[in-house]
Amino acid sequence: MRWSATYIPTLRERQSEAELISHQYLLRGGYIRRLASGVYLYLPLMQRVIDKFANIVREEMNRAGALEITMSVLCPAELWQETGRFATVGKEQMRMHDRHEKEMVLCGTHEETVTDLVRGEIRSYKQLPLNLYQIQVKFRDEIRPRFGLMRGREFLMKDAYTFDADEESFANSYQAMVDAYFRIFERAGISVEKVESDTGAMGGKAAHEFMLLVDTNAGEETIIVSTAGNYAANVEKATFADATGIEPESKLHATEVVDTPNAATIEEVSACLNVPAHKLVKTLIFIADEQPVAALIRGDRDLNEVKLKNALGCIELEMATPDQIQNHTGGPLGFSGPIGLNNVRIIVDPMVTTLTNFVVGANAHEKHIINVNYERDFNADEVVDITRASAGDKSPIDGAPLTEKSGIEVGNTFMLGTKYSSSLGATFLDKNGKEQPIIMGSYGVGITRTVQAVIEKYHDDAGIIWPKAIAPYHVHLIPMNIDKGEQGPVAETLYRGLTERGIEVLFDDRRERAGVKLNDADLLGLPLRIVIGDKSLAEGKIEAKLRSSNAVERIAVDTAVDEIVTLLETAP
Ligand code: ATP
Ligand code: MG
Repeated sequence: MRWSATYIPTLRERQSEAELISHQYLLRGGYIRRLASGVYLYLPLMQRVIDKFANIVREEMNRAGALEITMSVLCPAELWQETGRFATVGKEQMRMHDRHEKEMVLCGTHEETVTDLVRGEIRSYKQLPLNLYQIQVKFRDEIRPRFGLMRGREFLMKDAYTFDADEESFANSYQAMVDAYFRIFERAGISVEKVESDTGAMGGKAAHEFMLLVDTNAGEETIIVSTAGNYAANVEKATFADATGIEPESKLHATEVVDTPNAATIEEVSACLNVPAHKLVKTLIFIADEQPVAALIRGDRDLNEVKLKNALGCIELEMATPDQIQNHTGGPLGFSGPIGLNNVRIIVDPMVTTLTNFVVGANAHEKHIINVNYERDFNADEVVDITRASAGDKSPIDGAPLTEKSGIEVGNTFMLGTKYSSSLGATFLDKNGKEQPIIMGSYGVGITRTVQAVIEKYHDDAGIIWPKAIAPYHVHLIPMNIDKGEQGPVAETLYRGLTERGIEVLFDDRRERAGVKLNDADLLGLPLRIVIGDKSLAEGKIEAKLRSSNAVERIAVDTAVDEIVTLLETAP
């Protein structure tokens, strides 16, 4: 492709809308443009990258026996009402009425559509297993779209859905997808970690996420990993072995209300009462589907809101405002406690129940209660793990130390069980002629998110460093000055020769300054750069440089095509 014949609007200035380096380079390299918050246009270079990655995904899905289909982005709201998700997805779902006043939604995922597709058509176990997938636009009205393609509102996803007759068959279908995922990401040049994850709004029994570990702030997910290498989970899901480590006191003292002037935070109360943070108990007030909830955890620990949400089984969970706290507890923010609460659901972490003589808020301005003991002084509606796992905790598997890492979720796999088949009536007759709901799985890969994640992993100060497999072109061919001496003709000959060999060449035929062209080459990040300049040409040579290396190689013009093909094979 000649630069003059394509559309690559590169930008020199830093783009203030882009916080992440990958987002910055996508804008500056003329790969994408923003139309609205979380909505992007893919320009010619980006289209090629997306197509290449999508093809890797397609090949591996096909290899695993999945069948490609395309489902509409638009869906009648009725289907989502049938599964009950219409009420639970919340504002992430874009909704509208058509001209007949029929309510429609834009799909952010396709469980409803695909289950509707097969129900009634699949009647016998003989038609199973089945795996249907698509590479399709998704729409989610994300609360905080950010980081360019990483968290868009409109984005591309590969989503696959499996249908099986029994658990054994399902286990095979699930494993086939997990294996395909590892191959997909490896082919795209990244290695991923498979971690346990929360099932979230998808529901179902269990789930895994595929994470690209990164050191930058692009890693929106925190992963808890065992140093023994046998446990990895998203922090939303991660559990840990008993972490109390605190000897109970043998004598329980009488409670006492004490003054804690100017002390509302854990640090302040700890200093004021001269009590370690782990002997304070935090009472956090939430509003869960409009009902007040008090969540109690040890003062030195953090709450895991996902665990709390799961324990409550609620749809919306929000921290209470100071006014709501005053209303429901009778005291101000910072001084909440479980004693004397009325009509507030109390959820207590097990780490609190084994503490003795601890401190809680007194639901009164600048007052706390000391020597509080669970069961003697207050009770829980439910005792359940709601504490966030942290580095230094012990692995639930074998007690090995846990560490924290950050990552980008590029894919996931869900064991859905019969959640969707039961609610939508997708059943089949088993070997004994008995009607059963189909066992389902669903599997996503963020196509556009992964492509940007690759850049987050592979770049330098000057631009992108594409792995060959998804680079928009293989070779960036640059005559320093196309009008000078033999540069133009040599470039033309090379361009033709390489193209005939099936090499994808971007030929920078612009009449731009050499410096501009070289900077653009670094920014775009194609794997191999070929520079044609007067000096080396006088000796019958041209210069070749891999984007991933600093070494410049001089190769003979006469044998250049062969040498470039060979050199390209060494590119990562
Ligand atoms: P997240 O926790 O990041 O919001 P999710 O759990 O909502 O992701 P899924 O519903 O399982 O994600 O979607 C499957 C895949 O689609 C994800 O693994 C991710 O790669 C991609 N994806 C999800 N949301 C977005 C988004 N807003 N923009 C781009 N890609 C996304
Ligand atoms: Mg999401």
